[in-house]
Amino acid sequence: MTLDELFAAAGAAAWGGVAFRRLLPFLSTEALEKVEALCPRPRTVLTAAFPYYAGARPGNLSLYARGEDYHRVVVRRLNTICDHLRQIYPEESFFPSADSSPLPEREAAWLSGIGLRGASGLLILPPHGTYVFLGTILTCAALEAPERPPAPDCPRCGACRAACPAGALGEGGPDPSRCLSELTQRKGELTEAEEAFLRAHPLIWGCDFCQRACPYNAAPARSPLPEFSTDLVDSLESADLEGLTNRAFREKYGNRAFAWRGPGPLRRNLALRRE
Ligand code: SF4
Ligand code: SF4
Repeated sequence: MTLDELFAAAGAAAWGGVAFRRLLPFLSTEALEKVEALCPRPRTVLTAAFPYYAGARPGNLSLYARGEDYHRVVVRRLNTICDHLRQIYPEESFFPSADSSPLPEREAAWLSGIGLRGASGLLILPPHGTYVFLGTILTCAALEAPERPPAPDCPRCGACRAACPAGALGEGGPDPSRCLSELTQRKGELTEAEEAFLRAHPLIWGCDFCQRACPYNAAPARSPLPEFSTDLVDSLESADLEGLTNRAFREKYGNRAFAWRGPGPLRRNLALRRE
């Protein structure tokens, strides 16, 4: 099978490859050390995008968090490709990951030419808009991946910036310390100002404002992947979490992306909305 066929069979809407050295300007010394600990002679990074939009469904969870946890889905799907490549290149190593590796995934995707670089900090892949999960395969093998020119930047229409309730999108891109998506996931004490933001926020996990405002997301294509389009949890209410121990919570919701912080932040966010 060709790489094109492998990525298509894995459910990727787009994929590309980039020589690892082209990512060096985006890597801190610490990140580079982590990459080299995994793969001593990194040569190629393959990047793939997996669509997750499941329609305009009401709910209080961010659209990305309603299906099965994308970390495990994307790695599982990338592993089908890695298993094939390991047979062809038995001497080489292949490391799949999603949102948990030291690699700069969005820059890798952009340099691979698979989507526009959005001012929101997200990759835009028509017709899926920004509703795609990115995954990477890091390898010591010098694969014959197509070297495309980097995709252009988005038109910088400013809609995402205007829609951001926290002023987290500046000229230099998103500021994670101000982003409500990060705030909904934060454990521990919040300041009064942070609590006020959460009281006024319609979601108890994540924040889709900048994505919903983007013209590329006006009519996004639906995901064909069952993990992101069936068995969805659109909303959580206090009753869903009532009396659950941490263990019971993990048993009930452990396969969801909103579960990684345990029930604490979700309970707090629900309580703030009732105040
Ligand atoms: S996710 Fe929400 S808070 Fe974060 S940058 Fe986008 S609109 Fe702003
Ligand atoms: S809303 Fe406009 S500026 Fe923001 S990412 Fe989309 S196209 Fe770019």
